[in-house]
Amino acid sequence: MNRLVIVSNRVADLRATTQTGGLAVGLADALKERGGVWFGWNGEPDGVTGGEPQVEMIDKVKRVAAPLSPEDVADYYFGYANSVLWPLFHYRLDLVDYRPAFFASYSHVNEAFARQLLPFLEDDDLIWVHDYHLIPLAGYLRKLGCRQRIGFFLHIPFPPPDLLAASPNHEELVEALLDYDVVGFQSHTDAANLKLYLAEHNPVDQVDETRFRFKGRTVLIDRFPIGIDAAGFAAMAREADEDVEIDLIRQRVLGRRQVIGVDRLDYSKGLPERFKAFGQLLEQHPEMEKAVSFLQIAPPTREEVDAYSDIRTELETLSGSINGRFADFNWTPIRYIHRSVSRRKLAPLFRGSHVGFITPLRDGMNLVAKEYVAAQDPEDPGVLVLSKFAGAAEEMQDALIVNPYDTDDMARQLHIALTMPLEERRRRHATLFEHVVRQDARAWLESFLAALNGSSAKPVAAERPYRPTG
Ligand code: UDP
Repeated sequence: MNRLVIVSNRVADLRATTQTGGLAVGLADALKERGGVWFGWNGEPDGVTGGEPQVEMIDKVKRVAAPLSPEDVADYYFGYANSVLWPLFHYRLDLVDYRPAFFASYSHVNEAFARQLLPFLEDDDLIWVHDYHLIPLAGYLRKLGCRQRIGFFLHIPFPPPDLLAASPNHEELVEALLDYDVVGFQSHTDAANLKLYLAEHNPVDQVDETRFRFKGRTVLIDRFPIGIDAAGFAAMAREADEDVEIDLIRQRVLGRRQVIGVDRLDYSKGLPERFKAFGQLLEQHPEMEKAVSFLQIAPPTREEVDAYSDIRTELETLSGSINGRFADFNWTPIRYIHRSVSRRKLAPLFRGSHVGFITPLRDGMNLVAKEYVAAQDPEDPGVLVLSKFAGAAEEMQDALIVNPYDTDDMARQLHIALTMPLEERRRRHATLFEHVVRQDARAWLESFLAALNGSSAKPVAAERPYRPTG
């Protein structure tokens, strides 16, 4: 079995027992099994870019943590990655804050990372690079003579050609992607967007549906929808700690239904539209007053970027005005928590909630949608209301699929979810659950590594033909 080399913007804490997600755990397990390296930024804002990385051996894995200078943290990380690529790839050209210094720093950091990673590589390694921070890494590694197979997985969406072409560096970005052996996306839409771009802008030869020839090499472009540790999450959901249990009992005693949303406080998550839809539900269905409450957990993220403080203010105003209008001394319609909640608490909260209300304006996958399904009691499951613009919607057509820009549609579907008969809830949940278990984190990892190894060009198939969600 080949060694594995994982490269991500931030190097994972391989010793932590409570990793943030199934993804980090899955990748760490695969690394421990095969042996290898996890390389990334150490997460500190005060180092020297290109400076000596810190190396730690954990079982058969070398954890290599590289420093970055304050200027590069500002220009590469908050700048190009999170003020240019994040909004651009989420179809939000209006929020792109492009500055030439950002791209210079992005290139500089990727080149420095390539130089620092090189001495840790062995001939037969499989190198797997993660996410939008590191698109040019393979190109710099190739320039340094690296001949190993290198794969790239984009965790976020990939935009249509016209949007991408609005970015000053679109040609460099796409050529950089073609330096990989495998380019993996979350959804058909994302993979199709790159293929469309290539058809319109780049001189590549298409060999078949997924393989392209460019500068004498073959690149595989395909979809590898990411999954969760479904069995682990389901088990966690059955173990509520005391304060979660008390909260759920309170809801039950009062005969209240709970709608839940969990998202980082990001403009891509459609939170204002979601709050408005909940307000509309209460307005259109007075019988829902005191019968339902909405718990939205939205921990802060990237507050250094202006667009994030704007969305925070907007949400505080909206929840205040909806609560001001409908609340009573013994009922708060929207409980909005601007703090992070551990997955151990989230899992039983999902299980105790009648509706998972997950309506991003655009999302690579949305793992919360899969976690909500995994957490349900199959005998009495809740209903998933899911945006058609989440990557997860391609696989989860048995959810109630909504247009997150249409608050009437969302309010209507929310009402359908809250009044859905048990038999239909069970039927929908059974299909969703079966898929979430089958296409779990392990299946994702194995299908990507098989493609990178050259042993299989086919990711795990979707269970039914794909219906476009445009
Ligand atoms: N999450 C968490 N605590 C929180 C909010 C989110 O542990 O307070 C977890 C959530 O359970 C999920 C992940 O963070 O595993 C978010 O992944 P997702 O794909 O939904 O969104 P992203 O944040 O990657 O855009």
